[in-house]
Amino acid sequence: MKRLLALLCFVQLHAATIILDPGHGGKYIGTANDVEQLVEKQLTLEVAKLLADKLRGSGHTVILTRESDVALDADDLIADLTKRAQMTVDHNADLFVSLHFNGSANKKSAGFEVYVPYEPLYPIKSYGLASAIHYDLSHEIDPIFQGGSLGNLNRLDGGIKAARFNVIKKAQCAAVLVELAYLTNEETAKKLKSDVCKDILVTGVYKGIERYLTQQKVSKCSRPRCRRWHK
Ligand SMILES: [Zn+2]
Repeated sequence: MKRLLALLCFVQLHAATIILDPGHGGKYIGTANDVEQLVEKQLTLEVAKLLADKLRGSGHTVILTRESDVALDADDLIADLTKRAQMTVDHNADLFVSLHFNGSANKKSAGFEVYVPYEPLYPIKSYGLASAIHYDLSHEIDPIFQGGSLGNLNRLDGGIKAARFNVIKKAQCAAVLVELAYLTNEETAKKLKSDVCKDILVTGVYKGIERYLTQQKVSKCSRPRCRRWHK
């Protein structure tokens, strides 16, 4: 019985409402790699669905800002981004993760970056979420996969940065934007076609979200039974 109560307590505290935002959609295609025929808006949706499955498997409620190739507002980009952020209010979300792939005129650019809002409404939570995702992505990512060479992981780690991105600035909870990899890097783009490489990225973000939620759970937990569980 004690074990059951402890487990129920764990599940109750652990389960979160998560908004995943597959960047772009519809007329907003994002960046692209014509040689490999990869388009950011398609790849973000694919990765978001894989990540959603993993998180739902852990008992979380996951809502995607879009489930297909559509814009949330085809007439106004700012309105499109605002509607995505507004979903954090509509669903009383615990966290918001916007997923993107980067592009650069320098075809050698590679790696990942995690952004927090420059003027965050939830600064500590957003930085906590960013740190956790950054930690796990940097441990999951294989430099070879990202188009670098072994021993070159530092170059691939774009770190945590602050930006005035509307989509995370207006979110009413912990919010980050992740640039998972450079589509314009040929090595990366080639490998992004494989399920194994997509899974590396998805697993990094998944583990980071779980790490952040575990940290939140420990700090929130105050019931006597729960305190015993966490000792
Ligand atoms: Zn993007």
